[in-house]
Amino acid sequence: MKTIIVGGGIMGLSTAWALAKSGQDVELFEQGPLPNPLASSMDEHRLIRHPYGDHTGYARLIDDAFVAWDELWRDLGQRLFAATGTLALTGNGADWALRSAASLASIERPMTRLSLAELPLRFPMLDSKGVEHAFWIDTGGVLFAQDITAALARYLSHQSNVRLHSYTPIRAVDLELGQAVTETGTVHTADTVVVAAGAWVGRLMPASAGKLVPSRQIVIYFRLPDDQRAAWSKGPMLIDKTGEVGLYLVPPMEGRGMKVGDHEFSRSGDPDGSREATPGEMKPLLDRCASLLRGFEQWRIDRLKVCFYTVTDDERFVVEKQGAKGWVMSPCSGHGFKFGALMGKELARTIVSERDPGQHARWAAGLEGDTK
Ligand SMILES: Cc1cc2nc3c(=O)[nH]c(=O)nc-3n(C[C@H](O)[C@H](O)[C@H](O)COP(=O)(O)OP(=O)(O)OC[C@H]3O[C@@H](n4cnc5c(N)ncnc54)[C@H](O)[C@@H]3O)c2cc1C
Repeated sequence: MKTIIVGGGIMGLSTAWALAKSGQDVELFEQGPLPNPLASSMDEHRLIRHPYGDHTGYARLIDDAFVAWDELWRDLGQRLFAATGTLALTGNGADWALRSAASLASIERPMTRLSLAELPLRFPMLDSKGVEHAFWIDTGGVLFAQDITAALARYLSHQSNVRLHSYTPIRAVDLELGQAVTETGTVHTADTVVVAAGAWVGRLMPASAGKLVPSRQIVIYFRLPDDQRAAWSKGPMLIDKTGEVGLYLVPPMEGRGMKVGDHEFSRSGDPDGSREATPGEMKPLLDRCASLLRGFEQWRIDRLKVCFYTVTDDERFVVEKQGAKGWVMSPCSGHGFKFGALMGKELARTIVSERDPGQHARWAAGLEGDTK
């Protein structure tokens, strides 16, 4: 049995990894270099955390996600993850941290509530002004995303049943016939075609474009004084939803950068367009950093990164069978990386075992065991 995969981000590569392990032949096509710096999966880090707002279904999958990463670390011979614990803050009437704590309590993974007096004592680098609720959980951390993606591409290049084609854009797919057509018109055929094209999916699958909307997102890397960097390099990872911005902060674990980003979706932009960030795009984030982070006036912007991902209305993943031989694999809405190894393993299992595709789609959408 052979599978064609379109896209060499974490989803395409993880699916190739799991299919190859189960003895399947795989041919993967990537439009750019492999890995591609423009892919959503290519940034220094991505977060993995249990707190998930009302999405209890995804919170439940986090333990499985860790098991899948552990399996990948064994195959890669390296563990590309640093544990930090997760601090969730809410203010300005927003209640994401409260809803996360309630959801996690319902699945017996309680978070610890921190009083507002305790917060700056435990985390002196934070200012608690404007924070209304604070919760802590020991689990969670930083996945070294671009190192994982690059290591997976290297690993796959050594597998005899995998063929990787970089700089080979696919211009059309036929999911009934199991075909992928390159720009030069070469037709490749397989038993299954998986489209894991990230923010470019609407180009290949115009019918998906209304549902999987590309969203341009900004992240800011900072240089900070050595003493502050040393303090932050022990964590925590921080998710702060104040109602104005949805800020997340990634601490500089194991020598990586110190990064801040905004989880509010822009739902706009073109992944092939300009990747320059504008001052207007950065302002809400910088304003929130100034009120939340002590010593922020000494931080300097090191570099900006503009990244694209797809967003659905309900922020649930789309992993759906289409046609007799196709799958559209878009587990994203800005929170997919943490499930990369798990999504790849499970899609490979469904392809190989012919598990019910509808059940697979519900599982990937986080609907199994969801309390909503
Ligand atoms: C700023 C930002 C912060 C994020 N933070 C987190 C986080 O903290 N935690 C988390 O879990 N997730 C996070 N995410 C989301 C996560 O990064 C994505 O969900 C995940 O990387 C998507 O992987 P993918 O493989 O689907 O897409 P991509 O990584 O974009 O890969 C798609 C690949 O397909 C290729 N391609 C497209 N079209 C074609 C074609 N026609 N032919 C050949 N190749 C093609 C592209 O070049 C690309 O390499 C974040 C994303 C961003 C942008």
